[in-house]
Amino acid sequence: MKIIMLGAPGAGKGTQAKMIAEKYGIPHVSTGDIFRANIKNGTELGMEAKKYMDKGLLVPDELTVKILLDRVAKEDCAKGYVLDGFPRTIHQADVLEEALNKIGDKIDFAIDVDVPDENIIRRMSGRRACLSCGATYHIEHVPPKAEGICDKCGQELVLRDDDKAETVKNRLNVYHEQTQPLIEFYEKKGVLKSVDGTVDMKDVFAAIVGILGE
Ligand code: ADP
Ligand code: AMP
Repeated sequence: MKIIMLGAPGAGKGTQAKMIAEKYGIPHVSTGDIFRANIKNGTELGMEAKKYMDKGLLVPDELTVKILLDRVAKEDCAKGYVLDGFPRTIHQADVLEEALNKIGDKIDFAIDVDVPDENIIRRMSGRRACLSCGATYHIEHVPPKAEGICDKCGQELVLRDDDKAETVKNRLNVYHEQTQPLIEFYEKKGVLKSVDGTVDMKDVFAAIVGILGE
């Protein structure tokens, strides 16, 4: 099963993608996590990506497409995957479709997690991320057991540089201009499903399971 998560930054794509990955036994592939791991490890790719991420801009397609195609070509993705944060442009969607076509494959579901802009800024300022294992928390909705410490790996939690209010506004503009057109793109392909992302995350997940099947 090959799934794409669509939605604004902070809509809950990562939260739901992790739950999907666990239930259906497929890898969770997040381009944002791949970039953040590269930044943490001080790689050239990380240094380049950071310039764009810190401004709330998209990392150029030339860099992004290659890392994604390399990742989904790995053995563990053979039976499927859930993509979180990719594609973010029509060009990325075209390249992914072409690569899948070549192996006689296709995307099964594109799930749009719908959350209005008003809710997003509040959510992002409360998000805390573990840069070691990729876990995410929210200071009100999903607090860690000990303040500021990751439940899963014990590392310190941080407010991502790109989750600061000014950057979030840029990210939302970029989302509306460059990523939202993907909703129509996948609707035309007949694979788009929408869920209300404003409800409790367990209820969002129940709606997704209703779409994907038990
Ligand atoms: P995305 O991957 O779309 O950027 P995340 O999954 O990281 O978004 O979620 C953004 C923030 O909102 C996180 O702090 C997360 O814990 C919180 N969150 C996710 N889903 C919900 C929900 N349904 N209700 C309230 N908060 C949520
Ligand atoms: P995310 O963790 O998905 O919110 O991504 C964080 C940031 O990484 C984004 O704001 C972009 O700067 C960059 N990024 C992640 N995925 C992509 C992508 N598919 N295309 C371009 N930039 C991306």
